[in-house]
Amino acid sequence: MTSSPTDLRRRWLFADQLGPHFLDHPDQPVLLVESRAVFRRRRFHRQKAHLVLSALRHRAAELGDQAVLLRADTYGEALAQVGEPLDVCAPTSRAALGLVERRPGLEVLPHRGFVTARPDFERWATAQRGGLLMENFYRTARRVHGVLMDGDDPAGGRWNFDHENREPPPRTPTLDVPEPWLPQEDEIDAEVRQDLDRWEADGDVTFVGRDGPRRFAVTRDEAVAALDRFVDHRLPTFGRHEDAMLAADPWMSHSMLSAAMNLGLLDPREVVERAEDAYRSGHAPLASVEGYVRQVMGWRDYVWHVYWHTGPTYKQSNALAARAPLPTWFRELDADAVEARCLREVLGQVRDTAWVHHIPRLMVLGNWALQRGYDPAELTDWFHECFVDGYEWVMQPNVVGMSQHADGGFMATKPYASGGAYIKRMSDYCGGCRYRPDVRVGEDACPFSAGYWWFLDRNRERLAPNRRMAQPLAGLGRLRDREALVEQEELRGASPP
Ligand SMILES: Cc1cc2nc3c(=O)[nH]c(=O)nc-3n(C[C@H](O)[C@H](O)[C@H](O)COP(=O)(O)OP(=O)(O)OC[C@H]3O[C@@H](n4cnc5c(N)ncnc54)[C@H](O)[C@@H]3O)c2cc1C
Ligand code: SF4
Repeated sequence: MTSSPTDLRRRWLFADQLGPHFLDHPDQPVLLVESRAVFRRRRFHRQKAHLVLSALRHRAAELGDQAVLLRADTYGEALAQVGEPLDVCAPTSRAALGLVERRPGLEVLPHRGFVTARPDFERWATAQRGGLLMENFYRTARRVHGVLMDGDDPAGGRWNFDHENREPPPRTPTLDVPEPWLPQEDEIDAEVRQDLDRWEADGDVTFVGRDGPRRFAVTRDEAVAALDRFVDHRLPTFGRHEDAMLAADPWMSHSMLSAAMNLGLLDPREVVERAEDAYRSGHAPLASVEGYVRQVMGWRDYVWHVYWHTGPTYKQSNALAARAPLPTWFRELDADAVEARCLREVLGQVRDTAWVHHIPRLMVLGNWALQRGYDPAELTDWFHECFVDGYEWVMQPNVVGMSQHADGGFMATKPYASGGAYIKRMSDYCGGCRYRPDVRVGEDACPFSAGYWWFLDRNRERLAPNRRMAQPLAGLGRLRDREALVEQEELRGASPP
């Protein structure tokens, strides 16, 4: 039986708990807190700060008298003004969870906003022998939740369509699919922009990246419109070129829904259901739908659980002893300082939109940082601050684990390091670049190809026990220009490529 709003405590909603599934009744009283300290503690991308603030204020406006919006420096100061009992759904970061658990009289409810529950993951993890593989977690979740299942079997007789979904880009400049949904800004956005300008002018907070039109949903209605647009027009082409990059088509067939899910505006369960319905009704092919569902209830949920499962010291893992500080041009998103076309384009997109898809994150930005030995914890903060969808829970496993191999192989069995040949195969960047992907020493040497071998050379002893690295390390041993290459890359130092 649903409780009536009068039986319910006021629900404190964090700024990433903004959708209806974070309430127990549509009329439940709400507390929202706008904390200035949150923006002062980190140097966020301007467009990310805008998105979060706009979403919070839109939710307050939408709820009207049902919500109290408190503007304060810290959460503590805001809570001191509240004289009634509160409850809260467990927040998504360790620090925020500690804060609410320490607060006397504040009832903390289980986490929401994911397909699978924390205790279910831990039960699953206890039963595993030989590592916590995402693929096994995902299959179990599909069985338990009955997603894309025909009886006891996976729909179409297969669990995995990765083989169909890893094609290089087409030979056209864009994928030629309908554009993603884009919002229209309103007066709340105008007010947010003015406030951020003022805070910055006062020297109170500083931002990285350029301001620009808002590109992501801030209300439930906008998020549903973005989901509709994706399912109706773009899901049928999702997957096939999922790992490819095109300079003139940054979003290709990607959903661009991560920010809406991470703000809590969309429930990932409804996203998965909509995708499955598209398959069952014959609107989208199974390979696309499975590829998409794998991202949402597979990767997204898995990364969430890894964050909690690995504990508070995970962020400091540094299995490859990478200690280089992030150079200023990288930290400041100074794409104009970079000549290497792939990195220049991707860094420029982050500067201008605070978003790029998965492969530029992993195989351009992450690959570059891994090759150069950037400090993984510092890099995690950089990703967290620069991306519209960045939160602590999602950044730590993706950056420390998946992209930097700093966890020694918990997330990925071998480092995601690769040379220019991979980028050439999976993108159209190399054609317009002043470097050549097949050259590793000299004026035309591709910094990714040279950087790949330099990375192996620096880490050969650490990587030697990993059987999957035997072949690359044998290749390193055969390099005739190894000494010249190492000298060249050491000379490059922290300068932009
Ligand atoms: C180094 C690195 C950093 C990343 N940082 C973030 C981040 O801060 N926030 C974030 O949401 N995702 C992050 N990702 C995962 C992924 O790149 C983004 O979710 C995706 O690019 C968002 O665009 P989209 O919504 O169009 O995704 P799509 O390609 O349409 O994928 C569908 C959805 O799957 C989910 N998803 C897929 N892979 C992952 C993953 N590895 N982790 C979590 N969710 C996933 C997202 O919710 C995404 O919306 C990161 C990946 C890497 C390699
Ligand atoms: S040649 Fe190298 S640096 Fe240039 S775009 Fe290709 S991979 Fe990037």
